[in-house]
Amino acid sequence: MAQRIKQHIASERAEEIVELAQAVADEYCPTGKVAPEEISVRKGISLIYDHYGDAFDGVIEHEDGQFYIHCNLDRENALGSPRGRFTVSHELGHYFIDEHRNALASGRVRPHPSFTVDRNRSDLRIEREADLFASNLLMPPARFSAALARARKRLGAIQDLAGKFNVSITCAAIRYVDSEVEPSVMIHRAPDGYVWSRLSKQFEAMNCGRIVNATPQTPADNPSAICRALGEKPSGVIGAKIAASTWFPALSRGRDFQIREEAMTLGRYGVLTLLTLPDSGFPQSVATTNPRSG
Ligand SMILES: [Zn+2]
Repeated sequence: MAQRIKQHIASERAEEIVELAQAVADEYCPTGKVAPEEISVRKGISLIYDHYGDAFDGVIEHEDGQFYIHCNLDRENALGSPRGRFTVSHELGHYFIDEHRNALASGRVRPHPSFTVDRNRSDLRIEREADLFASNLLMPPARFSAALARARKRLGAIQDLAGKFNVSITCAAIRYVDSEVEPSVMIHRAPDGYVWSRLSKQFEAMNCGRIVNATPQTPADNPSAICRALGEKPSGVIGAKIAASTWFPALSRGRDFQIREEAMTLGRYGVLTLLTLPDSGFPQSVATTNPRSG
């Protein structure tokens, strides 16, 4: 079974963090792309880009009254890159969220290595909070809504948003799903077969059961499988309507419906899949399992 990331922070707490991130973005970078590196410098936080092997993507430390953010070049967190920007923003979350900063400054918690969302992702509450902060710092809610209104649909929208805010496709996809634009599911599959997924609350409410790891169950003629076969070759967006039971086998007994699957390659990061309903509103039943549709 694919790893399902725990994603939801208590809503009041989440709102506070979203508002905080938006306020920081508006104060330091009121127009154009948000520059987390610039915010760090203006807060007197030292940014260090160096080679740390596989230890972490980023970490924030407090020593002698000074904060330091370390970004790991060995995990491609280069200055100004989408991945590096997310890492700095995540560490800034640990700085701007009062409880995180106070805990670090008092020495009550040891600095913890942080990993970007694609794997090794911790279920720790503080990590989810820092990720939420990072997403809303880089894509402030008001600017995100405006950009979404002008974007294409579904995976096209995710590409547009990633370009507009200089974030990774994965980062934009998580935000798209979390924003409840429509019932949706994103699935990320690394080249080594590691799969994780994220469901919007609307989709979760449809109770489709657990999502399968794509490896054995995905038929060879579906978009994700095609992208997987392409490997690192860029694919663009490939879409098709498929039976939802392809991904949610618990649906196979009479509850199956059609779902739109779109996928694209992420180069050496693997394949991203987005599942949405073919039309807005309620899921349509697959003809073969619903006598009413003939
Ligand atoms: Zn962290």
